[in-house]
Amino acid sequence: MEKKGSILLERYELGKLLGQGNFAKVYYAKDLKKFQNVAIKVIDKEKTLKAGLSEQIKREISVMKMAKHKNVLQLYEVMATKTKIYIVLEYAKGGELFNKVAKGRLKEDIARWIFQQLISAVDCCHSGGVYHRDLKLENLLIDEDGSLKVSDFGLSALIDSKRQDGLLHTMCGTPAYVAPEVINRRGYDGAKADIWSCGVILYVLLAGHLPFQDSNLIEMYKKITRADYRCPNWFPPEVRRLLLKILDPNPKTRIPISKIMENPWFKKGLGTRPAPARLAKVESTEAKLSEGNAIEKQFELSKPSNLNAFDIISLSSGLDLSGLFVADDGREDIRFTSIEPISVIVAKLEEVASELKLKVSKKDGGFLKLVSSGGRRVELGIDIDIFEVTPSFHVVEMKRANGNAFYYQKMLKDGMQPALKDIVWAWQGDSTQSRFKEKRCMSNFLCKLKFMYDVEF
Ligand code: AMP
Repeated sequence: MEKKGSILLERYELGKLLGQGNFAKVYYAKDLKKFQNVAIKVIDKEKTLKAGLSEQIKREISVMKMAKHKNVLQLYEVMATKTKIYIVLEYAKGGELFNKVAKGRLKEDIARWIFQQLISAVDCCHSGGVYHRDLKLENLLIDEDGSLKVSDFGLSALIDSKRQDGLLHTMCGTPAYVAPEVINRRGYDGAKADIWSCGVILYVLLAGHLPFQDSNLIEMYKKITRADYRCPNWFPPEVRRLLLKILDPNPKTRIPISKIMENPWFKKGLGTRPAPARLAKVESTEAKLSEGNAIEKQFELSKPSNLNAFDIISLSSGLDLSGLFVADDGREDIRFTSIEPISVIVAKLEEVASELKLKVSKKDGGFLKLVSSGGRRVELGIDIDIFEVTPSFHVVEMKRANGNAFYYQKMLKDGMQPALKDIVWAWQGDSTQSRFKEKRCMSNFLCKLKFMYDVEF
């Protein structure tokens, strides 16, 4: 526990706590040698070790040291004791931009000025091969005169917590700023993903609320993947056009930074701070709303809350649960998630079964037994369990009950998987890995999740 007034490493006089993240606490401090204000991020070594992050932190700190730009929060020094890592950072007196925007959207020229600084910082880091991967309003700080300081560049391991198990620790918050290809986990280009997040930030600065927001995370996910957003009527046409190019769900056709920098709206007043350069609340979103603007529903600009187990499952298109479950009987199981109602899932399974010359020999609520019918020479039995996670979210598990394993695999790969694509949210694990130890017990499943990952229900 760091105490106010204590001197750290014979040089930094510790002041008040500025904020706190998952693995770290951030304190204001005075550098007694250079007589300057700094912020010190104190990271708990044990926590990061447990999360398997220490190597990544070391690597990313060295990356962060390289990212030098006037709009990137400067890293001065890194020190470590037995239990703690101390990262000494440039102090951004204005604090989080989030707090300013939460009070009201920004005027166009101020929003553009912030966006220009953001693009300039991101461009510089990208040229050095450094990608942020977690750009959002909460990572944008401002200094005394209101100019931008992007924080956590290259430090995404701390926020990001990607772990060895591959489970979705990457999004311990809302996916509101995350590009579709990142959520889809198709492997992504860091530069293009950062550009998407910059687009979301531009929208937020001008609108005072997020472009993709829904209390139902699955709906939010859908909106992101379709780039389904609406611009408030005060957005200038040039901004709408620019946003259309940035918030392009296809990373291949998404506008690159070089082209954003050539955009006429972007270039207006480039390099000059609008006067007055105060980042005060400019216009209250509420006031604008009460003027009767044709906006269906505005969402408050809210900080991401931690996801609960349901959200984690529902967002986890690449979630590999294999580590959670131990094989009990050596059979190959395969499962997928679906956002269709159970009746639609069952109907589709029956339809596909018939196409594949399988017959439904047993049907009991969320359980189906398929067996080979007359048209098939090889004997095969498949058990299918449908688990309800939430009424709008299901996990469907298939296993071979009897018959030849090779034939079963081939039928799954060439027949089942392609035919089920309309109802599948994501396939999980693969046929050799994912196995439930306890059968058909959702509560066990969720308890295990809670135990393993300490998530809230
Ligand atoms: P972080 O763990 O980086 O998210 O930091 C937690 C909070 O501490 C931030 O949201 C800021 O409010 C504050 N903070 C972090 N770094 C700085 C800094 N360099 N200068 C001023 N405040 C900071």
